[in-house]
Amino acid sequence: MEIWKYLPGTNCGECGEKTCLAFASHLKERSTRLEECTPLFEDEKYADKGKQLAELLAPEIREIEIGVGARAAKIGGEDVMYRHELTFYNRTALAYDVWDTMEEGELRERVSRIANWRKFYVGEFLTLDAIAVRSVSGDAQTFAACVNAVAEETDLPLVLCSFDAKVLEEGLKVVAGKNPLLYAADKTNWKDVLELVKSYNVPVTLFSPDLDMLNSLALTFSSAGVEDIVLDPGVYPTGEGLADTFSRFVRIRRVGIEEGDKEVAYPLMSVPMTAWMIHGDALDASYWEAVLAAIGIIKYADIMILHSIEPHSLIAERTLVENVYTDPRRPVSVEPGLREVGTPTEHSPLFLTTNFALTYYTVESDLSSNKIDSYLIVVDSEGMGVEAAVAGEQLTAERIKETLESYGAEKRVKHKTLVIPGLAARLSGETEDVTGWTVLVGPRDSGRIPGWMDDNWPPEK
Ligand code: SF4
Repeated sequence: MEIWKYLPGTNCGECGEKTCLAFASHLKERSTRLEECTPLFEDEKYADKGKQLAELLAPEIREIEIGVGARAAKIGGEDVMYRHELTFYNRTALAYDVWDTMEEGELRERVSRIANWRKFYVGEFLTLDAIAVRSVSGDAQTFAACVNAVAEETDLPLVLCSFDAKVLEEGLKVVAGKNPLLYAADKTNWKDVLELVKSYNVPVTLFSPDLDMLNSLALTFSSAGVEDIVLDPGVYPTGEGLADTFSRFVRIRRVGIEEGDKEVAYPLMSVPMTAWMIHGDALDASYWEAVLAAIGIIKYADIMILHSIEPHSLIAERTLVENVYTDPRRPVSVEPGLREVGTPTEHSPLFLTTNFALTYYTVESDLSSNKIDSYLIVVDSEGMGVEAAVAGEQLTAERIKETLESYGAEKRVKHKTLVIPGLAARLSGETEDVTGWTVLVGPRDSGRIPGWMDDNWPPEK
C-alpha cells in the first residue's frame, strides 16, 4: 500500500497489470521495473512522485553492474541481512585470477578454463562470473598486453588489479568500453585512481582494513560523484585476523542495512586468495581459500577474487553460492509428469518421486547413471522434498492416484506395481487402497536403488 500511494492510481494497464495495486505488489517483489509504469515518467504531474518512489524502491545496498552484455554481473542490491527475511537478489560473483607474468599460451589456456567451466546442478549449468587480471610485473605495458590477451579470449567481466594507477590506466585503455571493475584505491593512491574512475566512468574497489579510513574513502569518492563503489575491508586468513575479517564484513553490512547508513551501503569485495600468501602447499592453500570463500559467501561478500581453479575448489565454492542465493520463497521445482529413464519397456519398474528439483535430479541421476531402464513418475508436491511433502500432505495417496491417472501410467507398464520412496513408506497401505496398484517401498536413499533392485525386482522373483 505504501508503494501504491505513489502510483497514478488510474489502473490504465500500460504496465501490463490490470491495476496499480497489482503493479505495486510486483514492484515490492522486484519482479518488474518501475519504468514499466510509463505515465509516471511521461506525465509531468507525476514527476515528483516518480522520483520519490524510485528512492523508496532503491535497494538498501547499491546495485552495481560489472562488464557488459549477456555475461555482465550485477552485485549488491540487497535489502536484508538474512535470506529468510525476504531473499538475496544478486549472488556472490566469483572472479578467478590470471597474472601478467604468465606465458601467453598458459594465460590463454587458464582464461579458457575459467570462461568455459560449467557444472550441471539441480537442472542447470553453473558457470563462473569474472576474471581478475593481476599486475605482478608492475609494468604498465606488460599489464596492458595481458589484459588485451584476456579480453580476446573471453567476454566475462574483468577486474583489473593493481595499486599503481598508471598500470591500471594502461589496462583500462584496452577495455574501457567493457566496464571493468578497478581494484583498488587505497589511502596512498586514491587521488590518482579517483581521476581514472571519473575519466573512464568505471566501477572501483576501495580498500582499507581500517573501517574509518574505508568510510572516509567512500565518502570522498561519492562526494566526487562516483557511486559505483565496492568496498574491500581486507581478508586476513588466520587467527584473530580471520575473526576481525568476519566482524568487519558483518559490521559494514549491518550499518548499511539496519542502520541505513548510505555512506557504506555498497557491495563488498572479499579476496580469499590471501590464503596463498601463508600456505606454501597448494592443497593446504586451496583448502583454506575455499574455507575463506565459504565464510565470505555466507557473510556478506558480493564479489570475490580466488586463485584455485581445481574442481575441488570450484565445485564447493560455486555450489555454496547457488544454495545460499536461491529464493527461499520459491522452492526450486521441476514439472510433474511421467519420465522415461533409458529405454524402459512395459516390464520396467515405475518409481515415484516428488517435483523438488534436487530430489528429482538426484533420483533421475541415480537411475540413469546405474543404467536402470525405468519410468519415473513425478508428483506435484509444490516443490517439496519427499519427507517434508509427506508431513505437509503435499504428497498423499490421493495425489499419487491423480498423478498416475493424469499421465497414463497404467498404459505404460503391465505389472501395475509402483515403487515409492522409503521416506514415504507410511503412505504405502493407503496408496494401495486408493489406487488399486501394488506398492513396493524402495530405499530411503535413491543411491541404494541398484542394491534394492537386486533383491526386489522383478516383484515375482
Ligand atoms: S501503468 Fe501505472 S498507472 Fe497504469 S495501471 Fe500500471 S501502475 Fe497503474
